[in-house]
Amino acid sequence: MENRYRSGEHGFESSAEGLADKVETLFNQQLETWALAKKNYQSLRQVEIRRIRFPEMEYQIQFNPSRLVSAQAKVDTKSIRERTCFLCQEHLPQEQKGIYVGKGIYGLKQDYQLLINPFPIFRKHLTIPSVVHVKQSIEGRIGDMLGLARQLPAFTLFYNGPECGASAPDHMHFQAGCKDEMPFERAWTGMRKQILCQKNDTFLYAINESINQVLVFKGKDKDWIIDRFERMLKYALDLPVSAGKSEPMMNLLCEYTDTEWTLSVFLRQRHRPIQYFEEGDNNRMISPGAVDLGGIIITPLNKDFRHTDKNQLEDILHQVIIDVSEFNELSTKLGETNYE
Ligand SMILES: [Zn+2]
Repeated sequence: MENRYRSGEHGFESSAEGLADKVETLFNQQLETWALAKKNYQSLRQVEIRRIRFPEMEYQIQFNPSRLVSAQAKVDTKSIRERTCFLCQEHLPQEQKGIYVGKGIYGLKQDYQLLINPFPIFRKHLTIPSVVHVKQSIEGRIGDMLGLARQLPAFTLFYNGPECGASAPDHMHFQAGCKDEMPFERAWTGMRKQILCQKNDTFLYAINESINQVLVFKGKDKDWIIDRFERMLKYALDLPVSAGKSEPMMNLLCEYTDTEWTLSVFLRQRHRPIQYFEEGDNNRMISPGAVDLGGIIITPLNKDFRHTDKNQLEDILHQVIIDVSEFNELSTKLGETNYE
Protein backbone atom coordinates (compact mmCIF):
# COMPACT_ATOMS: atom_id res chain seq x y z
CA MET A 1 0.00 0.00 0.00
CA GLU A 2 1.30 3.45 -0.81
CA ASN A 3 1.54 6.13 1.81
CA ARG A 4 1.31 9.37 -0.07
CA TYR A 5 3.10 12.38 1.30
CA ARG A 6 0.65 15.03 2.36
CA SER A 7 2.24 18.42 2.02
CA GLY A 8 2.12 20.69 5.03
CA GLU A 9 1.81 17.94 7.62
CA HIS A 10 5.41 17.32 8.48
CA GLY A 11 7.35 19.98 6.71
CA PHE A 12 7.28 22.27 3.80
CA GLU A 13 7.42 22.10 0.04
CA SER A 14 10.83 22.76 -1.40
CA SER A 15 11.55 24.87 -4.43
CA ALA A 16 14.54 24.32 -6.69
CA GLU A 17 16.69 26.93 -4.93
CA GLY A 18 18.97 26.65 -1.98
CA LEU A 19 18.55 23.12 -0.69
CA ALA A 20 21.79 23.41 1.29
CA ASP A 21 20.43 26.51 3.08
CA LYS A 22 17.16 24.78 3.84
CA VAL A 23 19.06 21.87 5.38
CA GLU A 24 20.94 24.30 7.66
CA THR A 25 17.65 25.81 8.78
CA LEU A 26 16.19 22.35 9.36
CA PHE A 27 19.14 21.33 11.57
CA ASN A 28 18.87 24.48 13.64
CA GLN A 29 15.12 24.14 14.03
CA GLN A 30 15.23 20.44 14.94
CA LEU A 31 18.06 20.80 17.46
CA GLU A 32 16.07 23.52 19.23
CA THR A 33 12.78 21.69 19.36
CA TRP A 34 13.52 17.94 19.47
CA ALA A 35 15.03 16.81 22.78
CA LEU A 36 16.15 13.35 21.59
CA ALA A 37 17.99 14.76 18.58
CA LYS A 38 19.54 17.52 20.65
CA LYS A 39 20.83 15.06 23.24
CA ASN A 40 22.29 12.66 20.66
CA TYR A 41 24.00 15.41 18.62
CA GLN A 42 25.47 16.84 21.82
CA SER A 43 26.78 13.42 22.87
CA LEU A 44 28.41 13.01 19.47
CA ARG A 45 30.66 15.99 20.24
CA GLN A 46 32.40 13.90 22.93
CA VAL A 47 32.45 10.72 20.90
CA GLU A 48 35.53 8.55 21.50
CA ILE A 49 37.58 7.34 18.57
CA ARG A 50 40.38 4.76 18.29
CA ARG A 51 42.45 4.55 15.15
CA ILE A 52 43.65 1.36 13.48
CA ARG A 53 46.04 1.82 10.58
CA PHE A 54 46.47 -0.43 7.56
CA PRO A 55 48.93 0.39 4.78
CA GLU A 56 46.13 1.49 2.44
CA MET A 57 44.04 3.46 4.93
CA GLU A 58 43.18 4.18 8.52
CA TYR A 59 39.98 2.99 10.18
CA GLN A 60 38.38 4.99 12.99
CA ILE A 61 36.58 2.94 15.61
CA GLN A 62 33.73 5.12 16.89
CA PHE A 63 32.15 4.38 20.29
CA ASN A 64 28.55 5.37 19.64
CA PRO A 65 25.94 3.94 22.05
CA SER A 66 23.07 5.69 20.24
CA ARG A 67 23.61 3.32 17.29
CA LEU A 68 22.70 0.23 19.32
CA VAL A 69 19.16 0.15 17.93
CA SER A 70 20.46 0.18 14.39
CA ALA A 71 23.18 -2.41 15.05
CA GLN A 72 20.64 -4.73 16.68
CA ALA A 73 17.95 -4.15 14.07
CA LYS A 74 16.22 -7.36 13.09
CA VAL A 75 16.04 -7.23 9.32
CA ASP A 76 14.48 -10.61 8.56
CA THR A 77 11.22 -10.56 6.63
CA LYS A 78 9.05 -11.65 9.56
CA SER A 79 10.41 -9.02 11.99
CA ILE A 80 10.07 -6.30 9.37
CA ARG A 81 6.47 -7.28 8.65
CA GLU A 82 5.57 -7.14 12.33
CA ARG A 83 6.97 -3.72 13.16
CA THR A 84 5.67 -0.29 12.19
CA CYS A 85 7.87 1.40 9.60
CA PHE A 86 9.81 4.25 11.20
CA LEU A 87 10.40 5.98 7.84
CA CYS A 88 6.73 6.27 6.88
CA GLN A 89 5.28 9.73 7.19
CA GLU A 90 2.53 8.77 9.60
CA HIS A 91 4.95 7.16 12.08
CA LEU A 92 7.53 9.93 12.29
CA PRO A 93 7.88 11.41 15.78
CA GLN A 94 5.74 14.48 16.24
CA GLU A 95 8.80 16.72 16.59
CA GLN A 96 10.32 15.56 13.31
CA LYS A 97 10.10 17.96 10.36
CA GLY A 98 11.30 17.38 6.83
CA ILE A 99 12.13 19.06 3.55
CA TYR A 100 10.22 17.68 0.63
CA VAL A 101 12.10 17.28 -2.65
CA GLY A 102 9.86 16.05 -5.40
CA LYS A 103 9.96 14.64 -8.87
CA GLY A 104 11.24 17.11 -11.42
CA ILE A 105 13.25 19.21 -8.94
CA TYR A 106 17.01 18.67 -9.47
CA GLY A 107 16.12 16.10 -12.14
CA LEU A 108 14.77 13.67 -9.53
CA LYS A 109 12.63 10.81 -10.79
CA GLN A 110 11.00 10.08 -7.44
CA ASP A 111 9.80 11.97 -4.34
CA TYR A 112 11.89 12.12 -1.18
CA GLN A 113 12.09 14.05 2.03
CA LEU A 114 15.16 15.15 3.92
CA LEU A 115 15.07 14.43 7.64
CA ILE A 116 17.71 14.79 10.31
CA ASN A 117 18.81 11.41 11.66
CA PRO A 118 18.23 11.46 15.44
CA PHE A 119 20.94 8.79 15.97
CA PRO A 120 23.88 10.51 14.30
CA ILE A 121 27.29 9.21 13.25
CA PHE A 122 28.21 12.61 11.75
CA ARG A 123 27.92 16.19 13.10
CA LYS A 124 25.28 16.52 10.41
CA HIS A 125 23.50 13.34 9.46
CA LEU A 126 20.45 13.16 7.20
CA THR A 127 18.06 10.37 6.37
CA ILE A 128 16.45 10.77 2.94
CA PRO A 129 13.50 8.39 2.64
CA SER A 130 11.24 7.98 -0.31
CA VAL A 131 7.89 9.63 0.32
CA VAL A 132 6.17 6.33 -0.45
CA HIS A 133 6.72 3.02 1.33
CA VAL A 134 8.58 0.97 -1.29
CA LYS A 135 11.34 -1.52 -0.66
CA GLN A 136 14.98 -0.52 -0.46
CA SER A 137 16.36 -0.83 -3.99
CA ILE A 138 18.79 1.23 -6.05
CA GLU A 139 17.21 0.17 -9.32
CA GLY A 140 16.25 3.29 -11.31
CA ARG A 141 17.46 5.59 -8.53
CA ILE A 142 21.19 6.07 -9.03
CA GLY A 143 20.41 9.27 -10.99
CA ASP A 144 18.47 10.54 -7.97
CA MET A 145 21.46 9.81 -5.74
CA LEU A 146 23.77 11.76 -8.06
CA GLY A 147 21.21 14.59 -8.31
CA LEU A 148 20.85 14.88 -4.54
CA ALA A 149 24.64 14.78 -4.04
CA ARG A 150 24.98 17.70 -6.42
CA GLN A 151 22.51 19.76 -4.38
CA LEU A 152 24.22 18.89 -1.09
CA PRO A 153 27.90 19.66 -1.71
CA ALA A 154 28.74 19.67 2.01
CA PHE A 155 27.57 16.06 2.32
CA THR A 156 28.48 12.58 1.18
CA LEU A 157 25.38 10.54 0.39
CA PHE A 158 25.30 6.87 1.17
CA TYR A 159 23.14 3.87 0.40
CA ASN A 160 22.96 0.54 2.20
CA GLY A 161 21.53 -2.38 0.25
CA PRO A 162 18.48 -4.14 1.71
CA GLU A 163 20.60 -7.10 2.87
CA CYS A 164 23.74 -5.32 3.96
CA GLY A 165 23.21 -2.47 6.32
CA ALA A 166 19.79 -0.91 5.77
CA SER A 167 17.84 -1.09 9.02
CA ALA A 168 14.65 -0.38 7.04
CA PRO A 169 14.99 -2.75 4.05
CA ASP A 170 11.27 -2.29 3.41
CA HIS A 171 11.44 1.49 2.93
CA MET A 172 13.72 3.07 0.32
CA HIS A 173 16.12 5.62 1.79
CA PHE A 174 19.48 7.26 1.30
CA GLN A 175 21.48 8.87 4.08
CA ALA A 176 24.00 11.69 4.09
CA GLY A 177 26.82 12.76 6.42
CA CYS A 178 29.45 15.52 6.44
CA LYS A 179 31.74 15.17 3.45
CA ASP A 180 35.33 13.94 3.81
CA GLU A 181 34.92 12.49 7.29
CA MET A 182 35.14 8.88 6.14
CA PRO A 183 38.81 7.98 5.63
CA PHE A 184 38.11 6.17 2.34
CA GLU A 185 36.97 9.40 0.70
CA ARG A 186 40.51 10.74 0.73
CA ALA A 187 42.49 7.52 0.86
CA TRP A 188 41.21 5.89 -2.32
CA THR A 189 43.14 8.14 -4.69
CA GLY A 190 46.38 6.75 -3.24
CA MET A 191 45.32 3.12 -3.57
CA ARG A 192 46.31 0.65 -6.25
CA LYS A 193 43.75 1.08 -9.01
CA GLN A 194 43.09 0.39 -12.63
CA ILE A 195 40.95 2.27 -15.15
CA LEU A 196 38.30 -0.19 -16.38
CA CYS A 197 36.60 2.17 -18.81
CA GLN A 198 36.28 5.85 -19.50
CA LYS A 199 34.47 8.43 -21.55
CA ASN A 200 36.52 11.59 -21.98
CA ASP A 201 37.31 12.70 -18.42
CA THR A 202 34.86 10.42 -16.64
CA PHE A 203 36.33 7.16 -15.36
CA LEU A 204 35.43 3.88 -13.77
CA TYR A 205 38.25 2.56 -11.60
CA ALA A 206 38.70 -0.79 -9.91
CA ILE A 207 40.56 -0.60 -6.62
CA ASN A 208 42.07 -3.90 -5.62
CA GLU A 209 43.89 -3.60 -2.31
CA SER A 210 44.32 -6.09 0.50
CA ILE A 211 41.08 -5.09 2.23
CA ASN A 212 39.44 -2.86 -0.36
CA GLN A 213 37.84 -4.25 -3.50
CA VAL A 214 35.90 -1.19 -4.62
CA LEU A 215 34.61 0.30 -7.87
CA VAL A 216 34.86 4.09 -8.14
CA PHE A 217 33.18 6.25 -10.76
CA LYS A 218 34.62 9.74 -11.07
CA GLY A 219 33.85 12.58 -13.46
CA LYS A 220 31.35 15.04 -14.89
CA ASP A 221 29.33 12.82 -17.22
CA LYS A 222 26.26 11.89 -15.21
CA ASP A 223 24.54 9.94 -17.98
CA TRP A 224 27.62 7.80 -18.58
CA ILE A 225 27.97 7.07 -14.86
CA ILE A 226 24.30 6.03 -14.72
CA ASP A 227 24.69 3.81 -17.79
CA ARG A 228 27.80 2.03 -16.52
CA PHE A 229 26.41 1.73 -13.00
CA GLU A 230 23.31 0.01 -14.34
CA ARG A 231 25.43 -2.42 -16.33
CA MET A 232 27.50 -3.06 -13.24
CA LEU A 233 24.28 -3.96 -11.37
CA LYS A 234 23.33 -6.39 -14.10
CA TYR A 235 26.76 -8.04 -14.29
CA ALA A 236 27.11 -8.22 -10.50
CA LEU A 237 23.74 -9.94 -10.28
CA ASP A 238 25.15 -12.74 -12.45
CA LEU A 239 27.99 -13.45 -10.02
CA PRO A 240 27.74 -16.58 -7.85
CA VAL A 241 27.63 -14.38 -4.73
CA SER A 242 24.35 -12.82 -5.95
CA ALA A 243 22.51 -16.14 -6.47
CA GLY A 244 18.87 -15.72 -5.44
CA LYS A 245 19.20 -11.98 -4.79
CA SER A 246 17.16 -9.17 -6.31
CA GLU A 247 20.08 -6.76 -5.98
CA PRO A 248 23.82 -7.38 -5.59
CA MET A 249 24.80 -6.86 -1.96
CA MET A 250 26.47 -3.47 -1.80
CA ASN A 251 27.00 -0.13 -0.14
CA LEU A 252 27.46 3.16 -1.98
CA LEU A 253 29.11 6.51 -1.21
CA CYS A 254 28.44 9.47 -3.49
CA GLU A 255 29.65 13.05 -3.43
CA TYR A 256 29.95 16.04 -5.74
CA THR A 257 32.94 18.41 -5.71
CA ASP A 258 34.13 20.93 -8.34
CA THR A 259 31.69 19.76 -11.04
CA GLU A 260 32.62 16.09 -10.61
CA TRP A 261 30.87 13.20 -8.97
CA THR A 262 32.64 10.46 -7.07
CA LEU A 263 30.54 7.32 -6.63
CA SER A 264 32.12 4.40 -4.76
CA VAL A 265 30.63 0.90 -4.87
CA PHE A 266 31.52 -1.57 -2.10
CA LEU A 267 30.31 -4.98 -3.20
CA ARG A 268 29.66 -7.43 -0.42
CA GLN A 269 29.42 -11.14 0.23
CA ARG A 270 28.00 -11.01 3.70
CA HIS A 271 26.13 -8.57 5.96
CA ARG A 272 27.21 -9.39 9.51
CA PRO A 273 30.49 -11.16 10.38
CA ILE A 274 30.49 -14.41 12.38
CA GLN A 275 31.66 -12.47 15.46
CA TYR A 276 28.29 -10.70 15.49
CA PHE A 277 26.59 -14.02 16.29
CA GLU A 278 29.19 -15.39 18.72
CA GLU A 279 28.69 -15.48 22.46
CA GLY A 280 31.04 -14.41 25.23
CA ASP A 281 34.40 -12.73 24.66
CA ASN A 282 34.41 -13.36 20.94
CA ASN A 283 31.18 -11.45 20.37
CA ARG A 284 31.44 -8.18 18.43
CA MET A 285 28.36 -6.03 17.88
CA ILE A 286 29.67 -4.75 14.57
CA SER A 287 27.16 -4.62 11.73
CA PRO A 288 28.97 -3.10 8.76
CA GLY A 289 27.28 -0.73 6.33
CA ALA A 290 28.47 2.03 4.01
CA VAL A 291 29.96 4.16 6.79
CA ASP A 292 31.98 1.26 8.22
CA LEU A 293 33.43 0.37 4.84
CA GLY A 294 34.12 4.07 4.37
CA GLY A 295 36.39 3.69 7.40
CA ILE A 296 34.29 4.65 10.42
CA ILE A 297 33.62 1.43 12.31
CA ILE A 298 30.62 1.90 14.56
CA THR A 299 30.76 0.12 17.93
CA PRO A 300 27.69 0.77 20.09
CA LEU A 301 29.18 -1.27 22.97
CA ASN A 302 32.19 -0.20 25.01
CA LYS A 303 33.71 -3.72 25.08
CA ASP A 304 33.88 -3.80 21.28
CA PHE A 305 35.23 -0.26 21.12
CA ARG A 306 38.04 -1.14 23.56
CA HIS A 307 38.90 -4.65 22.42
CA THR A 308 38.52 -4.83 18.64
CA ASP A 309 42.09 -5.17 17.42
CA LYS A 310 43.70 -4.91 14.03
CA ASN A 311 43.58 -8.65 13.29
CA GLN A 312 39.90 -8.89 14.17
CA LEU A 313 39.04 -5.84 12.12
CA GLU A 314 40.89 -7.23 9.13
CA ASP A 315 39.11 -10.55 9.54
CA ILE A 316 35.71 -8.84 9.77
CA LEU A 317 36.35 -6.75 6.65
CA HIS A 318 37.52 -9.78 4.67
CA GLN A 319 34.37 -11.66 5.62
CA VAL A 320 31.98 -8.96 4.44
CA ILE A 321 33.71 -7.57 1.32
CA ILE A 322 33.25 -9.36 -2.01
CA ASP A 323 35.67 -12.19 -2.75
CA VAL A 324 38.64 -11.10 -4.89
CA SER A 325 38.01 -13.63 -7.67
CA GLU A 326 34.39 -12.49 -8.12
CA PHE A 327 35.48 -8.87 -8.00
CA ASN A 328 38.03 -9.57 -10.75
CA GLU A 329 35.40 -11.31 -12.86
CA LEU A 330 33.12 -8.27 -12.60
CA SER A 331 35.99 -5.86 -13.32
CA THR A 332 36.91 -7.80 -16.47
CA LYS A 333 33.33 -7.60 -17.79
CA LEU A 334 33.12 -3.88 -17.10
CA GLY A 335 36.50 -3.37 -18.75
CA GLU A 336 35.11 -4.89 -21.94
CA THR A 337 32.48 -2.13 -22.16
CA ASN A 338 35.29 0.34 -22.87
CA TYR A 339 35.36 -0.71 -26.50
CA GLU A 340 31.69 -0.01 -27.17
ZN1 LIG B 1 7.68 2.93 5.39
